[in-house]
Amino acid sequence: MANKSYNAFEMAQAQFDRVADLIGLDGATKDLLRYNLREYHVSIPVKMDDGTVKVFRGFRVQHNDARGPAKGGIRFHPMETIDTVRALAMWMTWKCAVVDIPLGGGKGGVVCDPHNLSMREQEQICRGWVRQLARDMGPLRDVPAPDVMTSAQHMLWILDEFETIHGARLPGFITGKPVGMGGSLGRTEATGYGVIFTVREALKELNIPPGDTKASVQGFGNVAQYAIELYQQIWGKVVCVSCWDQKDQTSYSFYKEDGIDLGALRGITDRFGGIEKDKAKKIGYEVLPGEAWIEQDVDILIPAALENQITKNNVGKMSDRVKIIAEGANGPTAPEADNVIKERGIFLIPDLLANAGGVTCSYFEQVQSNMNYYWEKDEVLGKLDTKMTSAFNAVSELAKKRKLYMRDAAYVIAVGRVAQACKDRGWV
Ligand code: GLU
Repeated sequence: MANKSYNAFEMAQAQFDRVADLIGLDGATKDLLRYNLREYHVSIPVKMDDGTVKVFRGFRVQHNDARGPAKGGIRFHPMETIDTVRALAMWMTWKCAVVDIPLGGGKGGVVCDPHNLSMREQEQICRGWVRQLARDMGPLRDVPAPDVMTSAQHMLWILDEFETIHGARLPGFITGKPVGMGGSLGRTEATGYGVIFTVREALKELNIPPGDTKASVQGFGNVAQYAIELYQQIWGKVVCVSCWDQKDQTSYSFYKEDGIDLGALRGITDRFGGIEKDKAKKIGYEVLPGEAWIEQDVDILIPAALENQITKNNVGKMSDRVKIIAEGANGPTAPEADNVIKERGIFLIPDLLANAGGVTCSYFEQVQSNMNYYWEKDEVLGKLDTKMTSAFNAVSELAKKRKLYMRDAAYVIAVGRVAQACKDRGWV
């Protein structure tokens, strides 16, 4: 999102540059991978419910497709910028490579605030966005999915418009579709559950029983809620969650010493993950400032909201007890804060690994959509666990062998695979 001193794309490029030097990438490959292959800027006129016409700006960026069609979500956010979408597209390339699925990286966004739009207006934005891009995307070229403030319903509108344009049923064009309309069972849970599969493996490595741990989570959207669900199933205790309050235009943290009640909180949360503050107070939650989530006396921190949340200003507030940070969001840690985390020897599970469960399940959804044969939920989640666990093991083994920070180890694997694909194709 826009923030004067922060540019997500510069941060993504800096992360890439470090690893490119570490693995001795040649100049041409470096030059190719530190930019996006293609990007599209579109204008989307929408007739609003009050009869006026409003024009929304949208983007689609395809960072790299050497390993397969570009893959990545589409976000709705009032502060969306092309540089954020560029960064997110690049991160998708590395994410798909680190879990070794045959897909590249892309991302899309529309500058809009769904809090203030009717469902009909959002439908028109979805249809307008894909109308502009339908010739440059497709099941074999670029495959979108849900992301911040978009859902299965948005995906179905985008698919319907795309299929109307192309005169065919093409369910492999988009993932995160509703179950029963080409969606995969387990896709809704996949990102959050994937975070916890990696947390479980990290705890194994550190020899800590999950039941002895406490966690604090930033965000209460789809990723956070399902991460909490699975973490509680393995007996972990979540004492704090934070979220955005649309009414007050600020965020709050919700604290409960003996552990949050996920069902009760879900019952007082809107579809964007905003918890109703007054109702939370009534059922026994202490309401603290938004940043309080990071200061809690816990073993595990899970930032699962937006990018640039752990910064040089708040990283020092982390408790000495923190042993694991699992990045459920994309790019939640700013580079200066990352250095502090590295120096403190905290076990970091980087975004490209920790939150890869979503796109991995999207890949399973594509496979099912293309076969027109759908798997049971247990089969989907079992395959997801296998994929996430083996990606985690590969990264952590490399980190140990070469004494690398987990983020660097994940990047070494991912960038190495993408660079190899570009070479094998004869591009560089
Ligand atoms: N938006 C999710 C992500 O950032 C999922 C992308 C996908 O499934 O293509 O990983």
